[in-house]
Amino acid sequence: MSEIVIDDLSYTYPKSVEQALEGISLTIESGSFAVLTGFNGSGKTTLCMAIAGAVPHYFGGAMAGNVTVGSLKTTESGICDIANTVGLVMQDYESQLVTLTVEEEVSFGLENRGVECSEIARLVKEALQMVGLSGKERQHTAALSGGQKQRLAIASVLATKPSILVLDDPTSALDPEGACELYELLYQLNQDHGLTIVVVEHDLSLALPYASNFILLENGRIEKKGTPAEVLQYMGIKQQYACVLPELWKLKLGLETDSLCFSDWSTSEEAANELLHCVRSKEAEKSA
Ligand code: ADP
Repeated sequence: MSEIVIDDLSYTYPKSVEQALEGISLTIESGSFAVLTGFNGSGKTTLCMAIAGAVPHYFGGAMAGNVTVGSLKTTESGICDIANTVGLVMQDYESQLVTLTVEEEVSFGLENRGVECSEIARLVKEALQMVGLSGKERQHTAALSGGQKQRLAIASVLATKPSILVLDDPTSALDPEGACELYELLYQLNQDHGLTIVVVEHDLSLALPYASNFILLENGRIEKKGTPAEVLQYMGIKQQYACVLPELWKLKLGLETDSLCFSDWSTSEEAANELLHCVRSKEAEKSA
């Protein structure tokens, strides 16, 4: 089942002359963990907004082509219906927090939807459990750490039971440990709860162990899409991406020769094991 189907999407913001997105065609299968990457201004946020229906419903502007999420064509559906399928965690997630306590924050969207009180209590409990914030119900949102605020923003959208979770640059304000923990959480939501994840990320080494797809944008167009390995191979031969290639892949591509090829490393453990094996077999060859 295809969860997100984008067909020849082009978009221009109001009062802008340049297209922010141009001829984007992309299918993200249900249960994928898709990573949007690319330099600043390449269109990542705009694409997130198009998946969430804010483009064009909130921003206006000129859109051509189609975006379908689940069974909804975004141009033909209301933003509230789209929000029941797509949960959006914005780049500035703190601005998404609108109430005083953790519990109130997660309840807020449900109350607005007219969900019954007993059902709200159940959904809030479940959502807080999913993000590891159980027991913090009465805590003031202002007293939470950056990582906890991020988790709370995620819980608030999860409570409404979307099947797709879109996160725009969620690690930009987190320290390295918080960023790793966030990816562990997203992977858990993807694997255990079957959520389709779409995440904007600059630091591909963070996303590499978890992603099923990388989508590289450049100037509003898809430069390359595919498995992480396919996209990293492509980035490896383009000079402009040398600075954003994960260290692991710099090492892999730097060491590989016509007769020496490594597998598609996604963790340092895999790399270390294969390199160790390689060194040991060379030593065994020498001493034979
Ligand atoms: P990214 O997320 O990759 O940094 P964006 O989607 O934010 O890229 O921006 C894509 C293009 O759209 C850029 O040229 C940017 O200047 C333009 N843009 C973004 N938001 C707006 C807006 N609200 N109004 C007009 N142009 C915008």
